Amino acid sequence: MRFDIPKLIDDIRAGERRALSRGITLIESARDDHRDMALHLLEGLGQDRQALRIGLSGTPGVGKSTFIESFGLMLTAQDLRVAVLAVDPSSARSGGSILGDKTRMDHLTRDPRAFIRPSPSQTQLGGVARRTRDAVRLCEAAGYDVVLIETVGVGQSETVVAQMADLFVLLLAPAGGDELQGVKRGIMEMADLVLVNKADGELKPQAVRTCADYAGALRLLRRRPQDCEGFPLAMTVSAQDGAGLAEAWARMRDLADWRRDTGVMAATRADQARHWFREDLRAEMLALLTRDPALQARLTDLEAAVAAGRMTPAVAARAALAPLKDG
Ligand code: GDP
Repeated sequence: MRFDIPKLIDDIRAGERRALSRGITLIESARDDHRDMALHLLEGLGQDRQALRIGLSGTPGVGKSTFIESFGLMLTAQDLRVAVLAVDPSSARSGGSILGDKTRMDHLTRDPRAFIRPSPSQTQLGGVARRTRDAVRLCEAAGYDVVLIETVGVGQSETVVAQMADLFVLLLAPAGGDELQGVKRGIMEMADLVLVNKADGELKPQAVRTCADYAGALRLLRRRPQDCEGFPLAMTVSAQDGAGLAEAWARMRDLADWRRDTGVMAATRADQARHWFREDLRAEMLALLTRDPALQARLTDLEAAVAAGRMTPAVAARAALAPLKDG
C-alpha cells in the first residue's frame, strides 16, 4: 500500500472517511518506514481540533454494542459526528475483535456521520494502546465531535482507556442478588458514570436495585479532584429501547463542561500526554535495543541467563543497557 502523506492530511482534515481509514491503517502498521510516515502524518494533522473522548467499558454481554448503536445514533441525529474505536488486547488470540462484527451496529455503521473502527489485532496491550491513541488523534483531526473508545476490560485495558479519555463510563448489567457483581474497586474508582443497562421489561426492578447499590458504593469512594458536585453517579439506561440515554448524555456533557471550564480537562490531558510520552519512550528504547542484531543477540543471551538462574533480572537489565551508556 502506498501513502501520499500530504494528500492524506488534506483528505483526513476534509473529513473523508476512507482517508481516515487509510490513515489508521498506516498508524497500525508495524513496518519501520510506515512508522516514519505515520509520525509525519500525525505531525501534519496538528492538534487544533479536539473531540470529547469517552471511554466505555463493560464485560461481554452487558450491551456495549447495543449501547453504542443507540447512543451513537442519538448523537448523530443531533448532527454530531461520532467515531468509535476499540481497545482489545486479546483480539489476535481470540481471532475476532470487538467491533469486528459490525453488523451489531448496523445502522450506525451506515450513518455518514459515524466512523467505526475495530481494535487493531495485537496481542500486546501496549501496542494496541499506542495505535488507538494515535487513531483518536486522527479522528479528532477529521473533525469528529465525540470519540467513543470501547473496551471489554481484559487485563489492564480499562486503565489504558481511562488514560486516553476525558470521561470514563462503566456499563453494567442488572445483578441477580445484592452482590456488586465483583466489579474491581480500581475500576469503580475510574468511573465517572456507572450505567446499569437493560432497565426495561422484567429486568427493570432489578436494574433499579442494582443502580441504587452502585450509587451507594460510589458514595463511599474518596472524592476525586476531577469530580464536580454529584459525580461520579449511577443511573439506569436501556440501550435497547433508548430509555435514559438522553439523560446520560446530558450528564456527560455537564461533567465535560465543568471539567473544561475549570481547567481540569486540560490538566488531565497534560498528565495523559506526559504518561504517553514516557510509554512511547519505553517502547522506542526497547525497539532500539532489539533493532541492532548484535544487541538483539545480547538480549537473547541475557534472557537465557535470567531463565537459567545465572543472573538476576535486574542485573541482566542493567547489562542489556550497558552498550547504550557507553555510546
Ligand atoms: P456486548 O457484548 O457488551 O457488546 O453486548 P451486546 O450489545 O452484544 O448485547 C448482549 C445482549 O444483551 C444482546 O442479546 C442484546 O440484545 C441484549 N441487550 C443489550 N442491551 C439491552 C437492553 O438495554 N435491554 C435488554 N433487555 N437487552 C439488551
